[in-house]
Amino acid sequence: MSDCIFCKIVEGKIPAGKVYEDEDILAFNDINPARPVHVLVIPKKHITSLATVVAADTPVLGKILAKANEIAVAQGSPDGFRVIINTGRVGQQEVPHLHAHIVGGPEPVGPMLKRI
Ligand code: 5GP
Ligand code: ZN
Repeated sequence: MSDCIFCKIVEGKIPAGKVYEDEDILAFNDINPARPVHVLVIPKKHITSLATVVAADTPVLGKILAKANEIAVAQGSPDGFRVIINTGRVGQQEVPHLHAHIVGGPEPVGPMLKRI
């Protein structure tokens, strides 16, 4: 998608701190990290969100999750991590190209959500 910031990162038109890449997925450091390790893992193909996936997207979604531990360990989160996929308005997704946040570091990441 021509006006998608993450597609532009895939195409090399916007720089990013890449930490893993293969033919299907790309992982890069979040520009505004919330934890010592904060990597975004995206499908190279534009998928808007988990709300728009189709059956054919299943392999790439599986790959994103299957690679998460390897990426987290390599980036300095050896004892686990959290994966977050914000989706749509209620999930407060800001960038409309599906991405998994991998957050972690040497210490626990904290509570999942503030209770309301
Ligand atoms: P969302 O709220 O959509 O789940 O998360 C979007 C994430 O993308 C945010 O954590 C934000 O810091 C990150 N982000 C937005 N623009 C850029 C960018 O141009 N480069 C990188 N590396 N991260 C970005
Ligand atoms: Zn895109």
